[in-house]
Amino acid sequence: MKAIVCLKQVPDTSGKVAVKDNGQLDRGSMATITNPDDLNALEAALQLKETIGCDEVVVVSMGPPAAENMLRECIARGADRGVLVCGGEFAGSDTFATSQIIAAAINKIGVGPEDIVFCGRQAIDGDTAQVGPQIAEKLNIPQVTYVTEIKKEGDALICKRALEDGFMVVKVKTPCLLTCIKELNEPRYMSVSGIFGAYDKQIEIYDYPALKDDPLIETDTIGLKGSPTNVFKSFTPPQKGAGQMLTSDSPETELAGILTGKHLI
Ligand SMILES: Cc1cc2nc3c(=O)[nH]c(=O)nc-3n(C[C@H](O)[C@H](O)[C@H](O)COP(=O)(O)OP(=O)(O)OC[C@H]3O[C@@H](n4cnc5c(N)ncnc54)[C@H](O)[C@@H]3O)c2cc1C
Repeated sequence: MKAIVCLKQVPDTSGKVAVKDNGQLDRGSMATITNPDDLNALEAALQLKETIGCDEVVVVSMGPPAAENMLRECIARGADRGVLVCGGEFAGSDTFATSQIIAAAINKIGVGPEDIVFCGRQAIDGDTAQVGPQIAEKLNIPQVTYVTEIKKEGDALICKRALEDGFMVVKVKTPCLLTCIKELNEPRYMSVSGIFGAYDKQIEIYDYPALKDDPLIETDTIGLKGSPTNVFKSFTPPQKGAGQMLTSDSPETELAGILTGKHLI
């Protein structure tokens, strides 16, 4: 059994978001972090390894050469193997193209009958939550999204998934893909021995020639050319004013008073 975890290096959006003239994010000028949900996905994989003993945890990212450092940090947290999908042919990919390329990379790593692919629910930059479900579709494996709890039962997993107003418990057979949310666990820190070990490990690079024989990889389904999405404009929305807490015993009356005072009702 193997766990394959997809992690994206994202701009740190807690600071100022830089946008280029063409409306795309100016990723080069912003500090980067590991996408937060993806650390929950990695933690879930590491916990499965510790509790049921999966053979290896493989971390995969599609991104620029600098994303190699993020993969080393994952190894320092306990992952066994890192794969960086990197190449000029992949640049400018939207979610459709990204999921094709990552699915091809996962095919190359190999998906066995007991394997689990982990993703975060959502990346904090693209913010679409599309890539995980799209990868599952391309790999033709079942998926469970918004996972908050995972238990192994025979050749299946019992997953609790969050809904807007409750939870749903789903039994899914492996191989499968799970998208993870922050309520699932508390990601661990890197260990000192892990940090030293991580720099001795070779990160495998999957470039275009390494993936081009996968049927998912066609020149018109990857990169900017293969991306059906066009971004017209990206911008930082204006800050909203501070909210006002209603503290009286009768908040309805207090709210009505405020709205009446502003001539809104
Ligand atoms: C026309 C266009 C051009 C773009 N060009 C670029 C570009 O050049 N560079 C760029 O970084 N983005 C680019 N983007 C943004 C890109 O579409 C998305 O960031 C990317 O496809 C992932 O979508 P998302 O961020 O919404 O991820 P989500 O769907 O929100 O991510 C869900 C989960 O999928 C996994 N995942 C997502 N992306 C990756 C990844 N790259 N590697 C590993 N796992 C991943 C993670 O587990 C993540 O938590 C472009 C978008 C458009 C529309």
